[in-house]
Amino acid sequence: MPKRPIVREPDPVLHKSATPIPVEDIGAPDIQALIADMKATLAAAEDGVGLAAPQVGQSVRLFLVSAEAEAIDRRGAESSDERDAKRDWHHYVFINPRFTKRSRQKRELAEGCLSVPGMVGVVPRSEKVFIEWWDEYGQRHARGYSKFFARVLQHEMDHLDGMLILDRARDLVRPSAHDAHG
Ligand SMILES: [Zn+2]
Repeated sequence: MPKRPIVREPDPVLHKSATPIPVEDIGAPDIQALIADMKATLAAAEDGVGLAAPQVGQSVRLFLVSAEAEAIDRRGAESSDERDAKRDWHHYVFINPRFTKRSRQKRELAEGCLSVPGMVGVVPRSEKVFIEWWDEYGQRHARGYSKFFARVLQHEMDHLDGMLILDRARDLVRPSAHDAHG
């Protein structure tokens, strides 16, 4: 599972709307290799909690979210100083994801991005989302998420729509060493 280089701003692939993956292609070797390589890439990324396919140069509707996002929720997103040491986190795979609901209630929090190093933006995101997607085994899922995990989903979904924190941030702030990036 080789790591792939993370594409950085201003690469045009980050500003393109990504293409859906035909469900019958999910098991195909190139898609499975992409998922495996993205898992290796995210595992090696310092402070990465999510990674979207356009961030490795592939404009398809696929992203990963690390189980670390759940751990951050259990602990509280603001107490990032107490971030767990890097572990071999499970990575959830979201293929052709679609929000079916987003709460009107939003919350602002500083957010970073592996493709926009050295910048953290204060981004308003819905507190709760309901999402439908396919996993890497071709299984369909639908469920609700809240808090930090919901934030990461919205950040990664933005990548599939060619949007970056630069397009969303109300304010840009100096990053601290422990902000979680996607
Ligand atoms: Zn990002």
